[in-house]
Amino acid sequence: MKIVCPQCDESDDLAGSRAGNIINLTCGTCGHRWPRDLNAKCEVCGGDDLQTVPLAIVEKSRGTQLSMVGTRPIDLCSVCDAEKLAKYHRNRPNPLLPDELPTIGKTPET
Ligand SMILES: [Zn+2]
Ligand SMILES: [Zn+2]
Repeated sequence: MKIVCPQCDESDDLAGSRAGNIINLTCGTCGHRWPRDLNAKCEVCGGDDLQTVPLAIVEKSRGTQLSMVGTRPIDLCSVCDAEKLAKYHRNRPNPLLPDELPTIGKTPET
């Protein structure tokens, strides 16, 4: 089982403390902390090589603008969600954007 820090890609300098079926991981390189569910499996392929990444929570604000109101952790499968993971790692440290954004009015921004 390969674990990498979702924040900085560190895979060696990681500390974990186990609580039930959850491992709370701490990255020694960037200090990022995140939980890893040992029971988590990909719903599509059944694989357990999941990476937890932050997904942006985007909401419409004032009708025509989108604003990010927060993030929530989601598990992505390194096989089925390879594309999303690649996208996330390209745009880091920004969170992954959801596939479907709330539709906004077609008001030109310029
Ligand atoms: Zn890190
Ligand atoms: Zn999968």
